[in-house]
Amino acid sequence: MCLRLRMPLSPTARRTFRQVLAPDRFRADVPLAPHTTFQLGGTADGYADVRSADELAAVLQAARTHDVPYFLLGTGANVIVGDRGVRGLVIHNRARSLHVDPDTNRVRAESGAVMYPDLIERAVSAGLSGLEHYVGIPSTVGGALWQNLHFLSPPPERDRTMFLEETVHSAEILAEDGTRKTVGADYFDFGYDYSILHDRDDVVLAATFQLHRGRSRARMREIMDANLQWRAERHPPLDTEPSVGSIFKKIEGVGAGRLIDECGLKGARIGGAMITHRHANIFVNAEDARAADVCALIELARDTVERETGYRLETEIDFVGEFAPPTDAEPTFVPKDPDLVTAADRAKAS
Ligand SMILES: Cc1cc2nc3c(=O)[nH]c(=O)nc-3n(C[C@H](O)[C@H](O)[C@H](O)COP(=O)(O)OP(=O)(O)OC[C@H]3O[C@@H](n4cnc5c(N)ncnc54)[C@H](O)[C@@H]3O)c2cc1C
Repeated sequence: MCLRLRMPLSPTARRTFRQVLAPDRFRADVPLAPHTTFQLGGTADGYADVRSADELAAVLQAARTHDVPYFLLGTGANVIVGDRGVRGLVIHNRARSLHVDPDTNRVRAESGAVMYPDLIERAVSAGLSGLEHYVGIPSTVGGALWQNLHFLSPPPERDRTMFLEETVHSAEILAEDGTRKTVGADYFDFGYDYSILHDRDDVVLAATFQLHRGRSRARMREIMDANLQWRAERHPPLDTEPSVGSIFKKIEGVGAGRLIDECGLKGARIGGAMITHRHANIFVNAEDARAADVCALIELARDTVERETGYRLETEIDFVGEFAPPTDAEPTFVPKDPDLVTAADRAKAS
């Protein structure tokens, strides 16, 4: 007997996806770990590799017509995929074409375009400023609008949070009612870690950014270098310590990471997942981690912080697919590597 849930893709739906895409770009039972920055999780029953906004719209229409549940994946930098995989179709958005209009200072990007280096390098090379702040953040354009990507304003002030919405001119969407239309930035109702895309089944096909020429290329490069250095000093490198960035939402004036740190949880490890010593709000895939290990660490951090401080932490990441129960094991504690200099160490020393 097969215990695995049956793939809810009818032969007709599969045939349709194979007609919309080149046959080798629609596949069954595809491991998703390599397509996420956390490098963990199960397989997708169906996987569509889309390469243009038109293909993306066509696959979405087909999925909706055939009633196939789907999930749209960008760079997978804000998602945890369950160990039991995803029932239905994962649409991997690799629609990446870019167009710079020097007359209007606008850049149009298909929604699978990668923010950095692709889009940001293209804009900066054209002398257009506005996007360079978001250097080094793993994201597609679609994921960035979903999240309203944000980062601190440039040094030396670093006195406010800047949001991607400040640069969004308009976007082409496939609305949940099936219409394909262009909408202005207001449509997205942007907030902190929020856009209307959280609450509607609209999909961004392409976005147009309104940039400006007020800043020299040298100053833009300076900001990019400073922001990349800021990240390198605080975040684990994705190639050796895969993560999804911050696990819990910011608590204004308190800091989720600070609470976890104060509870002595840096270095806590369950299975292959660990709370990094670099930043207590970032969990890393230390070695063959399962989503169940991460979920157990999330419970550990949430319960400990609530018990010891009264604050209830809320996750800010997207949980996708089917999850096994959290790993039932006591945490072990991995000591900090004596050679590792964290941002907290630097702050203490200065
Ligand atoms: C090391 C690290 C550092 C980070 N630093 C920051 C930071 O400084 N600031 C910040 O804001 N975030 C940060 N993040 C979080 C992450 O980079 C953002 O959330 C990013 O926007 C995710 O984009 P993505 O393409 O990977 O989306 P995914 O993770 O693939 O998807 C996220 C959500 O967006 C939806 N989505 C994707 N594309 C579309 C589309 N075209 N239309 C509609 N919905 C769509 C997906 O369905 C999903 O619900 C960081 C993450 C990591 C790993």
